Amino acid sequence: MTHWIKFLGTAGARFVMIRQLRSSAGVWYHLNGMNILVDPGPGTLVKCASSRPRLDPTKLDVIILTHKHIDHSTDVNVMIEAMTDGGFRSRGRLFAPRDALEGDPVILQYVRSFPEELIVLQPESAYDLADRVTLRTSPRHIHPVETYGLRFELPDRVIGHLVDTAYFDDLVTAYAGVDVLILHVVRFSGEGDEEKGIQHLNLGDAEKIIAAVKPRLAVLTHFGMTMLKARPWELAQQLTDRLGIKVVAANDGMQLNLDEW
Ligand SMILES: [Zn+2]
Ligand SMILES: [Zn+2]
Repeated sequence: MTHWIKFLGTAGARFVMIRQLRSSAGVWYHLNGMNILVDPGPGTLVKCASSRPRLDPTKLDVIILTHKHIDHSTDVNVMIEAMTDGGFRSRGRLFAPRDALEGDPVILQYVRSFPEELIVLQPESAYDLADRVTLRTSPRHIHPVETYGLRFELPDRVIGHLVDTAYFDDLVTAYAGVDVLILHVVRFSGEGDEEKGIQHLNLGDAEKIIAAVKPRLAVLTHFGMTMLKARPWELAQQLTDRLGIKVVAANDGMQLNLDEW
């Protein structure tokens, strides 16, 4: 396999995380020989060690924090230590939004000098990852903290990772042309979300985006309680039938061979 993704965790809201109904570990990408970890939430280091085959965090090249929420960032410091052999070997790159470093920072001061480079994410920007992968950020998502979605552009395919956000029309443009689209679908229905200030996609939003973007494969993940209760695998099958686009629901530990898409 040249390119693959492993979903170490698929939890997407406080109660699913706190009760570990699904794991809250991050997503590990292997693209063109590079190991890229996105959003190391609680349990990421443990899941790397318990994965079969084991994922070796000292082999990471890039760690990306899409935003500072605790379910995305708890293990970021320990993963930076792991990537850099406890800080003794300067290597790898760390990408994070500005507010993960300021105010009440989730990235501790002492680990910031460990990676070769610390890059502050900007909206709609492209970053060259060792000439092998281009990382492109989305416009800032609508979410309580500074949040960016990701596009990984390879010579032969594009992978989109649409993380936490409320729906807005520009999302469709931001993720246009991707072959595989990963979506964080926290809510089953959006009823009452606006009044409660909940800024997450619901299943209807996801359907609208998938229908407009038309990826070859869509992967639903980051499930809240209402999604889990509604059986995400059945919902994914229903979307596949309705849209004529393959949609799957991620499971903890699911490895996706991107060469097939
Ligand atoms: Zn989240
Ligand atoms: Zn969030």
